[in-house]
Amino acid sequence: MRRAPRPKALLLAALLACRSIAQAEEPASEQAMPAVKLIGELPPAPAHQWSDLTVDLNDHRTAGNGLVSAPALSKYLNGLYTHIKIAAGVPDWPGAVHISSDTTLNAHASASGNIYLHMGLIRSAESEDEIYGVLAHEFAHIYLNHQAAYEAHQVASNAVTGAKVALLGIFQKKLPGTNPSWSAFDSLALVDGVVHDSLIPVWQRDVEEQADMFAATLSLRERYSYPSGYKAFLERLAALEQREQASQPFGAPEGGATPAAAPGTTRKTHATAREREEVLTAKMLPLMPRPRPAPRKAPWQAVVKDKETAEVLAHFALLPEIAKLQAAGRNADALKLAQVAASGATAGDGTMLLVLQGAMKRTGASIEEQRAVLLRNRSWPERSWSVQYQAAMLVTPEQQPFAKEFLQEQYAYFGEAPRTWPDMVGFYFRNGDKFSQLALSLKCTTEARFRDACVYNTQTDAQRQQAANQAANRQQQQLNKWEQKLKDKLKLNQ
Ligand SMILES: [Zn+2]
Repeated sequence: MRRAPRPKALLLAALLACRSIAQAEEPASEQAMPAVKLIGELPPAPAHQWSDLTVDLNDHRTAGNGLVSAPALSKYLNGLYTHIKIAAGVPDWPGAVHISSDTTLNAHASASGNIYLHMGLIRSAESEDEIYGVLAHEFAHIYLNHQAAYEAHQVASNAVTGAKVALLGIFQKKLPGTNPSWSAFDSLALVDGVVHDSLIPVWQRDVEEQADMFAATLSLRERYSYPSGYKAFLERLAALEQREQASQPFGAPEGGATPAAAPGTTRKTHATAREREEVLTAKMLPLMPRPRPAPRKAPWQAVVKDKETAEVLAHFALLPEIAKLQAAGRNADALKLAQVAASGATAGDGTMLLVLQGAMKRTGASIEEQRAVLLRNRSWPERSWSVQYQAAMLVTPEQQPFAKEFLQEQYAYFGEAPRTWPDMVGFYFRNGDKFSQLALSLKCTTEARFRDACVYNTQTDAQRQQAANQAANRQQQQLNKWEQKLKDKLKLNQ
């Protein structure tokens, strides 16, 4: 009779399997990636392989604080998206617009056809022309097969994960287990914040220019204002980039372009918003119709003034106020404001509930009270993984079995999204549930992009350091390779 394999042997097998997947990994398919040669002309739509819409949604519901429920705003945004698909001649393509709780001035699209507008961008927009321009830009990445040719999100995630492992080493004193006031959730959130802005995929410059030209083409076709629309958005982004650069704690991002740098002095990996705006405006000037179309401010104003939408936006605007009060030690005032933020149209919103729970913790609320607040998100139209995970962490040792059952229920609800795996492995690890931890670690071998974060919780510090070095080398090689491939595809000579 054979003995059952020992956990260590299983883990080794898992790690070896990870390695062979890493070597075999070839993120791009050979799908066509047409180029926009002139503003005003769109290349014919290439064949598409759509990724799964539900898997994509679960991936986003488990990222950050998840998605925001704002039905009237969603309806309006999806109306615009329908017009964009019609204008591009592909009315039947899949995908919808969703609102991300991310408070940065940004948006992104996925290979499923979904577009995610961040709350930060929505809050700053002043006209339909701007929103249309941004949606058209994101749709360009879908139409031109940018994700399929180079799964942007995936490679960025890989790079982020590699760096995350390295940074977790740097922030070791904040790791779970070494400092009881930090949970794995805090560490990962902290590292996400640090990495997010400095790891810009090297290929971004080329595809962004293509998407900008595509957005300009559709804006012209639909007679949207360019100066008050997409140009205004790029200008706002440029102002923000300049402010952020001035306050960067670690200086400018490695390899990133600085506005002051003379051309050719640094190897530019992505264009700044200011450069993008200048390039696009130079191309647009001779094409803009006269008389210039008036900006469509009224429809956008109407949608953001809708009672429910206005409340969602107002509550997101309270977040910096709450942080300011907390920084000043005014925790009771911060709690009052957090209670307002987590009420009405955002009573069950993931971000608001996490902020409220944090404010309650600072004022000495019991873990039962904190957990009760977080559980309001369970019956909300948009459920957030972060909130569910945090609720499962707020238990006494006697409540552990309930917490495990609860978290496994959530894990199933979010379609066992790979993004939850590091949390799940960490949860089992902390609770000494070696068997479940191992079972999930093995699962990491089926999804290459989460292997590092999954394996992380099962390694010693020395192994982590070694893995971080290997990951960094691997990422660099992969990025170099893909930068060249992409340039070949786009036939760009820079
Ligand atoms: Zn883009």
